[in-house]
Amino acid sequence: MWIFYAFLVHVLLLGSILVINFRSTVIKGLQPQTPLLAYDLNPPATRLVLFATDGLRAASFFEDNCRHVPHLREIFMREGLVGISRTRAPTESRPGHIALLAGFYEDPSAVFKGWKGNPIDFDSVLNRSGYSFSWGCPNIMDVFKKVTKRGGSVHFHPFNDDVYETARWATYRLDEWVFSQVSALLDRIKNKWNTFSTVVFFLHLMSSDRAGHVHKPGTILFQKSLNITERGIWEMYRKFEETFPDKNTVYLLTSDHGMTDTGIHGSGTAHEIETPFMLWGAGVSRIASTVGARKFVANDEGLQLPLHELEQAQLTPLMSALVGLPPPMNNFGTMPTGYMAVSEEYEAMAAHSNALQLLAQYEKLLEQHRQGFFADFLNNFDQLSPAEIKSYKKLILNLHTRRAYSESLARSNVVMELTLKGIDYYHGYYRNCLLLSTTATFLGWIFYLYRLLSRNTAGKLQIMLEKQEKVCRITLDVSMFLLLFFLVAQRAPIAIAFYLLLPMPVWMMALKPKACGSTSASVPSSQPGVTARMTSASQLLLIIVCAELMVFTFFERRLISLCFVAFGFYNNWRNFVPNSREFYTWLALVIILACFPLLPLSEGYQNWYLFLSGIVLVFLRAFWSKKRRFSYSYHTKYCNALILLNTIICAYFDSEEYDIPILLYLASWSFLIYAFVSILMNKESNFEQRLDQICFNLGSLHALLSTSYESVFVQLLTMELSLSLAATNSAKSVPRVAFSILLYTLFSFFGMESFESVDNLFDSNSGRCFLWQYAPYITMGLVLLKHSLPVLLNMSIFYTHCEYARQREKRIFICILFICNIMGLNFLFLVRNQGSWKDMGASIINFYIMGLITLIIVLLSWVAQLLLGLIAIVYRQV
Ligand SMILES: [Zn+2]
Ligand SMILES: [Zn+2]
Repeated sequence: MWIFYAFLVHVLLLGSILVINFRSTVIKGLQPQTPLLAYDLNPPATRLVLFATDGLRAASFFEDNCRHVPHLREIFMREGLVGISRTRAPTESRPGHIALLAGFYEDPSAVFKGWKGNPIDFDSVLNRSGYSFSWGCPNIMDVFKKVTKRGGSVHFHPFNDDVYETARWATYRLDEWVFSQVSALLDRIKNKWNTFSTVVFFLHLMSSDRAGHVHKPGTILFQKSLNITERGIWEMYRKFEETFPDKNTVYLLTSDHGMTDTGIHGSGTAHEIETPFMLWGAGVSRIASTVGARKFVANDEGLQLPLHELEQAQLTPLMSALVGLPPPMNNFGTMPTGYMAVSEEYEAMAAHSNALQLLAQYEKLLEQHRQGFFADFLNNFDQLSPAEIKSYKKLILNLHTRRAYSESLARSNVVMELTLKGIDYYHGYYRNCLLLSTTATFLGWIFYLYRLLSRNTAGKLQIMLEKQEKVCRITLDVSMFLLLFFLVAQRAPIAIAFYLLLPMPVWMMALKPKACGSTSASVPSSQPGVTARMTSASQLLLIIVCAELMVFTFFERRLISLCFVAFGFYNNWRNFVPNSREFYTWLALVIILACFPLLPLSEGYQNWYLFLSGIVLVFLRAFWSKKRRFSYSYHTKYCNALILLNTIICAYFDSEEYDIPILLYLASWSFLIYAFVSILMNKESNFEQRLDQICFNLGSLHALLSTSYESVFVQLLTMELSLSLAATNSAKSVPRVAFSILLYTLFSFFGMESFESVDNLFDSNSGRCFLWQYAPYITMGLVLLKHSLPVLLNMSIFYTHCEYARQREKRIFICILFICNIMGLNFLFLVRNQGSWKDMGASIINFYIMGLITLIIVLLSWVAQLLLGLIAIVYRQV
């Protein structure tokens, strides 16, 4: 029964982090605001041209006194504003362009689409306008294509794969394609479109991103590509001015995100978040009133110009205001003051429109919250009550009739700031409650496991629970009922209500006096001394401290060495005969093994000498002792020897880039099957002899999959484990065995890998003896096999040398689950919903791995038993 509960509770807990951290921040059911034209205000521009230079960082733009953008410099030395626009992590193209055109940063719920799309439709500048034309990368076009159902007439022109292919090295070709397309359109409409409604031209210029990835920022090739792009932008500007000579066009140049020196982006370093912006044309002022103290040198003569700074999302309402549109409905940006050369009235009205649009989102959240019966008694965001919103709207009307525009502008700015705070407040309204209730669920489950482990002997607790059974039950029932009533009356969203209620049934299960009694028969109660130790507080404390220590190894894999050495000394030091040969061998092994996590990650790392020593070690280990040498069957000896030879040949061919004969691939695949089947077919009943064959076969298989030190590491680790288990014959305890199984499992992983680099799962080197062409999923399968083999070997050794583990395996698994849950509780608080996709992904993966690790151990131990021929024996005992 506990397995079923464990499964259920874990699935629910894994879902909880999604509900707590990854709910959408995009608000649905909004209405657009009135365009400024409706207030009889003429916008300064009717056309907006947006040049989005994908991946161009501010540092590249301003480098060497703007030497690499000479044509653009000509423009900004004469007119307009220039400066830095700050984006946020994840610094990627989709969120960057959405922040620019729709005014909100990455929606956490995009995790459900693998960060490839936005789960909820949104409004953008493109579909607020009367007409819009976009050219560029298909991925970016798709982001906005999908969501432009309402509003004006929108046109998208993505480039095709051929264009992309020709621009593989000559990255500037991508931009040249866009320029030629725009040019052709302008020629077509030249004399036809003198008067029409608002138009947005969006030129997605992809080449700076490609050049950054391919050539790296700052290189000659990158600068060459940038030069072509900036010259093209300048020519486009002239072409637009020629086509539309009415001086009603406004231009914005900026980028979605920056790039590091190494040519990557995604995180939040200064190079990645700082992008340039340049605004010029109709309605743009020369110096914004909010200018900071910073300046930059614009040319080699030392001309200093003010460097304006703003947040990326602020560009959205600014673009809208310049062409007289209301901000997109889902925008969270606030229009910066002083950027427009317009009347005071116009700027005040634009800010008011921005404030109304933000307030509409806030009011929607407030409305949902106030639907609840208890809304008045609960915490509310009291800095902006409905009455205050009403009085703000009234005040603005009043101020505008009195022509007090600057006061109106100031008031709108204050309200916008408060509104954003209020939106944050209601978005995170249940977050702390949810964290608290999930913690309570975790603790209830851990308590249940503790009782499972300590039943029969934890007399006091059992008696107390039996005495207080009624009180406990009634308290929990009543509180659950009250909470349920409260949540229904408050109309809390279903997912949230569910997770707030979850602790109650879990604690009910944990506190039931007979909760753990049903399985007590399978535990030998004849050894009270052993189980009694479990209940001691110091042992519990030790487990918790060790679990906490292991949590840190997820972030710094080198720490696992410390855990390994400390636990090894604590557990084994006294088991060896002092100054014996075994003792020194063991000591040397522990010290050497502790050095492995200091080496680079094994995937993608190749070292010919370490690789060869691994193969030699497999061979030596198999034939070192006389007893073993004679115990192998002929086919075991020859198949393994041949496959080790095959491994060396394949690796040599691969490193010299020769074609590997297909026969060798076939040999590798046949050995993969042979390695397992031959063990299963073996009729030998002696565990030690079976173990020898397992170690030899699986060791060779592992060598076949390794590229550097992996085999050496695994061979040494299994030697150390055998040695220390053989030396231990004193009484053991369940937690100690459970902890060492977990430690060896984690060590065999962290000794070579870390969870941070998920891409390594697809590293083709591991499959070099198996695959003649790259196949991602088979590669992943082989890498997973490679990482399960050491665990499988460890489990087989545990089962062979440790009779105790064979007898109490169920309790050991429960104890592993207990430790994993204590660790999982830590990871619950470390889950991140901001930052780069990589960081967010890693934090989720850590939490999920903790939930899955017990399952992996149970599964692999089952395979180990199968290989050892233990399954039959277990059945007889049950
Ligand atoms: Zn990009
Ligand atoms: Zn990129």
